[in-house]
Amino acid sequence: MIEIKNLNFGYKKNKKLFSELNLKLEKGKVYGLLGKNGSGKTSLLKQAAGLLYPNSGDIMLNDETPKKRSPRFLASYYLIPEEFETPGISMKTFIKITAPFYPGFNEDEFYKYLSEFKLEPNGKLNNLSYGQKKMVLISFGLAANTPVLMSDEPTNGLDIPSKSMFRKIMASAVSEGKLFIISTHQVKDIEGIIDSVVVLENGKIIFNQSLESVSEKLCFKTIKNLDDENVLYREKHLNTYEAVVRNTNEEHSRVNMELLFNSIIVENSKVVNEFI
Ligand code: ADP
Repeated sequence: MIEIKNLNFGYKKNKKLFSELNLKLEKGKVYGLLGKNGSGKTSLLKQAAGLLYPNSGDIMLNDETPKKRSPRFLASYYLIPEEFETPGISMKTFIKITAPFYPGFNEDEFYKYLSEFKLEPNGKLNNLSYGQKKMVLISFGLAANTPVLMSDEPTNGLDIPSKSMFRKIMASAVSEGKLFIISTHQVKDIEGIIDSVVVLENGKIIFNQSLESVSEKLCFKTIKNLDDENVLYREKHLNTYEAVVRNTNEEHSRVNMELLFNSIIVENSKVVNEFI
């Protein structure tokens, strides 16, 4: 579990990135951490990972304070970073050096994920493309079997088949005891994987809801008539509108992640108000 209370943080003294930010993430769930570029998603993950320290406020990850970076804390999460450098070593050596830090690491699982991504287990890491390196880290992160797995823009650099494989693999790896966070601005890439949406905007969490409660309260549909007072947000598509509508008749519709995200980050969002 991750709990953040009244987090204040800025890279510069008089420019806050997070102000009084509160967030609680539970195990057994897959969270999509969404936000525009520069909204602070990477910085927030780094705070939880103990790679950046709060100016004030409290962060707990699995009952540990990230700032202390105790060995137990470091073994309890894996962060698939957006930017990384890979050494000129083979995958086998990489496993030999890195896996011992993660007591739950399962080598068979690692090679299974690699083959699902159609990656050869031979060769040196630095000879791979950015997307291929990312797939190695995703495979490693999943095989590490840590209670918390954070991934920062995991689909960056992945081609279309690899993105759909990523969705399939992630969906199969979800388990009761684990907490997954997928941070992305490419919201379409996480459709069908996540079960909760967290939106970061202007230094705060402006939305944190399960998809279940989203689809209970909202409907996603194509409409022509704009007079309906239950329309909370709409986008024009040719002669019709893609709309987020108040779910007054207990209808069930598929959550359109992109539309949901756009409807949340708009100024004075009626969708956000629905959940207050
Ligand atoms: P996101 O992951 O949502 O794109 P980031 O956390 O990378 O956002 O960045 C949030 C803000 O913090 C941006 O304005 C970025 O320029 C700034 N920032 C990120 N890293 C640093 C750093 N090392 N020093 C100064 N500012 C930074």
